[in-house]
Amino acid sequence: MEYDTSKASEGASNNMGYDSRSEGYYYDIVIVGGGPGGSTCAALLGKAGKKVLLLDKAHFPRDKTCGDALSGSLRVQKDMGITEKIRDVQHAVINGVEFSSPEGVVVDIPFESNGFCCPRYVYDNLVFREALASVDVIQNFEVTSLLREGSRVVGVSGNGADGGMKEIRAKLVIGADGAFSLVARETGCHDLDPKHTITAVRAYYTGVAGVADKIELHFVNEILPGYFWIFPVGNGRCNVGVGMVDDIMMKKKLQMPSSMMKIINENPLFRERFSGATMEKGSLKGWRLPIGSKRRKMHGDGFVLVGDAAGLIDPFTGEGISNATVSGEIAANWAIKALDAQNFSSSFLKGYADEVWTFLGPKMKTSYRLQRIGRIKFLTNLIFRKAARSRHVMDSLKSMVDNMDQRNNIINPLFYLRLLLA
Ligand SMILES: Cc1cc2nc3c(=O)[nH]c(=O)nc-3n(C[C@H](O)[C@H](O)[C@H](O)COP(=O)(O)OP(=O)(O)OC[C@H]3O[C@@H](n4cnc5c(N)ncnc54)[C@H](O)[C@@H]3O)c2cc1C
Repeated sequence: MEYDTSKASEGASNNMGYDSRSEGYYYDIVIVGGGPGGSTCAALLGKAGKKVLLLDKAHFPRDKTCGDALSGSLRVQKDMGITEKIRDVQHAVINGVEFSSPEGVVVDIPFESNGFCCPRYVYDNLVFREALASVDVIQNFEVTSLLREGSRVVGVSGNGADGGMKEIRAKLVIGADGAFSLVARETGCHDLDPKHTITAVRAYYTGVAGVADKIELHFVNEILPGYFWIFPVGNGRCNVGVGMVDDIMMKKKLQMPSSMMKIINENPLFRERFSGATMEKGSLKGWRLPIGSKRRKMHGDGFVLVGDAAGLIDPFTGEGISNATVSGEIAANWAIKALDAQNFSSSFLKGYADEVWTFLGPKMKTSYRLQRIGRIKFLTNLIFRKAARSRHVMDSLKSMVDNMDQRNNIINPLFYLRLLLA
């Protein structure tokens, strides 16, 4: 549905919070960005009866450069009923993972419960529809700056589809606007530190040979300590990509698109498999991943940040959808607390940042250690060689992608001592 920002928005009430006394728009909460983080947060706040406006510069369905794997915790998606809806749209059910080591040892590990890969063009629209049913929404609205009273953020301003500049005031602004977050930039929180940011590219292919109901993560020499992935996404399509931490990529003077094409065209593990494959036109795209190997600032007077805007991507797997939804849920809870207490101060909202980090911080630390182990080629080769022969080592490897609690096993130095002696 098109909208007219001078009168109405789409969404639950279809009635923008126009306040004739102040000649402006007024909401309890404005959320910038309708990706998985922002839409989850909006849907939960709407269901709690809060007066919320969700803004996105795109119009859904919209694409987001990603690997499309939903293999992390799907609890929030399950609670929202989204997991069930994935079954009705384009997706692939994933029953396992295939790893390969730099020296070419391949290890196949089945999952205990299945996961999904779903193109973001499709998946994000499912989450966004939940928000649209619960709160007011304006699409094609780009937030270009924040409104302030002293140091406190009190709203946003930006351009709608009609080209007119609009100011929208709110008690709390939630920045869920991704890796290049305007809200984070304007509040001094934006940080794409090359040691804690990954650059990745992906493209969609059809006709890749040997694709099964599993995700593939390949630790190939060309891209170490990053990885090359092949993820089936349904309808015979695959999401194919590579990613690497920025500081190493810069040291090695690598360009991600050419590294990916080199692997596809020259690596003996993949050359044949891609010989009859076609890349979908215009699908090769790159983006940045702010990873949680560093705790970034994600709150201040009148605002909090969620998802990529807060730098919450897993440092080892590069997964960020799950953490975006989890932080969206925690932000919704803290927004309700702030409204109850009528307290939107930085010191109060620090509670949000602390809760996010109490929950995600230990997982980030483990993943970061795992990422650093991956930089040691000798150890990576050793793990895969042993995993090909040992059930115990294989289970530890499996934990790298689907069991955060057991990941501690694989970062324990004793694990490597046992491997060497086994
Ligand atoms: C190549 C690549 C592969 C990846 N693979 C995976 C994977 O397989 N699995 C996984 O879990 N994660 C993966 N990730 C990470 C994942 O894509 C992100 O963590 C996830 O999208 C974060 O969700 P979000 O809601 O925080 O932000 P986003 O999904 O980026 O959504 C932000 C929204 O904000 C809007 N917006 C931005 N600026 C403005 C503005 N100024 N005004 C209004 N709206 C604005 C955008 O239009 C967008 O809709 C990958 C990332 C990359 C780059």
